[in-house]
Amino acid sequence: MSGHIPLRMCMACREMKPKSELIRMVKTNGEVAIDTGFRIQSRGAYVCKSCKCISLLKKKKCIERFFGGGGSDKVYADLMKYVEN
Ligand SMILES: [Zn+2]
Repeated sequence: MSGHIPLRMCMACREMKPKSELIRMVKTNGEVAIDTGFRIQSRGAYVCKSCKCISLLKKKKCIERFFGGGGSDKVYADLMKYVEN
């Protein structure tokens, strides 16, 4: 039934989920930021909208590895704020 929904993989738990359940991140000007509107045309990384996955993402340094740097405490703090809202 949901075959037409494009799935993306969460970098933390490696589960495939619909985009609506994930947060997209992109690297622009050397810094990784949340792409809230899925608008930025760039290679994106995804994580579930869950504190558990974001904590795991930070622990495994997934952002740094995916983008080759650009991860910062601010990105993780922004992600946490995003899911808490
Ligand atoms: Zn996840």
